[in-house]
Amino acid sequence: MDNVIVYAVISLSAIGVTAAVVLYFVAQKFKVIEDPRIDDVEAALPGANCGGCGFAGCRAFAEGIVKAGTLEGLNCPVGGNTTMAEIAKVLGIEAEEKDPLIAVLRCNGSCENAPQKMKYDGPATCAFAHNLYSGESGCPFGCLGLGDCVVSCKFDALYMDEKTGLPVVVEDKCVACGACVKACPRGIFELRLKGKKDRRIYVCCINEEKGAPAKKNCEVACIGCGKCVKVCAFDAITLENNLAYIDDEKCKLCRKCAPECPTNAIHELNFPPRKPKAEVTAEAPKEPAPAETKS
Ligand code: SF4
Ligand code: SF4
Repeated sequence: MDNVIVYAVISLSAIGVTAAVVLYFVAQKFKVIEDPRIDDVEAALPGANCGGCGFAGCRAFAEGIVKAGTLEGLNCPVGGNTTMAEIAKVLGIEAEEKDPLIAVLRCNGSCENAPQKMKYDGPATCAFAHNLYSGESGCPFGCLGLGDCVVSCKFDALYMDEKTGLPVVVEDKCVACGACVKACPRGIFELRLKGKKDRRIYVCCINEEKGAPAKKNCEVACIGCGKCVKVCAFDAITLENNLAYIDDEKCKLCRKCAPECPTNAIHELNFPPRKPKAEVTAEAPKEPAPAETKS
């Protein structure tokens, strides 16, 4: 009986040792050696885990960068050029400077400009309301005002303005992570170039209806008249589906288009106020003084 127990213990021990040795060699053979640069790249990232880079989080982005071995098409909007330069140093490559972007709301259908025609009484999310109806003002492209964008922003860069019923971008907090762009079921937000001195010009409307129906629901809708297109000397404005669009890469911020718009749909941000027309005339170049003649 004693011998049986001894044999059983010895056999089980032998099986255990053999299995351990096999497992050790298998583990060695299939061992995944992680590139230590992934940790260094991750350390350089801001750790916001916002997904603005298009990856699931900062770690996934770091892995993606190291795997790609290049920074082409890759960017951390939160860290910006400084962070990308640090990452480039880790990889021993050059980082290309990128012009910073910012979120822009392309709707001015405030309570005043687009008066309420019906009352919504459903769940307070834009995604739900969007699938249900056109909105309280009747504009099927306009802001629904229920703040899905505000909820999506991890950087406190958006709030709802109680007076206008529209979201407002807090310029010094927006990192252009793009969460609001994804969250808005109407696609009203756009990431645009921040612009020199933070100056931007854009059509603050995405309504593709013809002029009359667009204007019926909102005083400041783009009616697709094309006047802005004609006046732009830089071919920065295009008109498609009754809607004008200003290409921020081409726009030279000359401000010629905004006064042409009959509905004030073109917004100018952070510019000094325009001089009243009378003042402009007063400052018009004077007639050259007659040349002095020597007697
Ligand atoms: S911008 Fe879009 S997400 Fe934000 S409140 Fe308006 S409809 Fe909703
Ligand atoms: S001038 Fe105004 S209304 Fe006309 S196309 Fe341009 S943005 Fe739209």
